[in-house]
Amino acid sequence: MTTHDPEMPTGDPSSNFSAKDCSEVLGRVFFFLDNELEQADCAEIQHHLDECGPCLARYDLERTVKTLVARSCSEKAPDGLRQRVMLSIRQVQVEITRRD
Ligand SMILES: [Zn+2]
Repeated sequence: MTTHDPEMPTGDPSSNFSAKDCSEVLGRVFFFLDNELEQADCAEIQHHLDECGPCLARYDLERTVKTLVARSCSEKAPDGLRQRVMLSIRQVQVEITRRD
């Protein structure tokens, strides 16, 4: 009778995660890193990372890269670059204002 059981029996953790779970988790790792996920989704991904070595390694890599990029960006943002960025932002704003 029980061909389709909605409640999966929790057995071996390694067999609990399919490849689809991994790709799904890895696809959301960026949002997880940016704290852009709902609490429930965060817990879901955190749980998966706790159980799944390959995903955890991938997550660690993404986190390391992100940290390095963030650090190098905030530490040595040259004034020239900053002004150029500010200028281009202003130009875009002007274009938007004109178009309106
Ligand atoms: Zn995984």
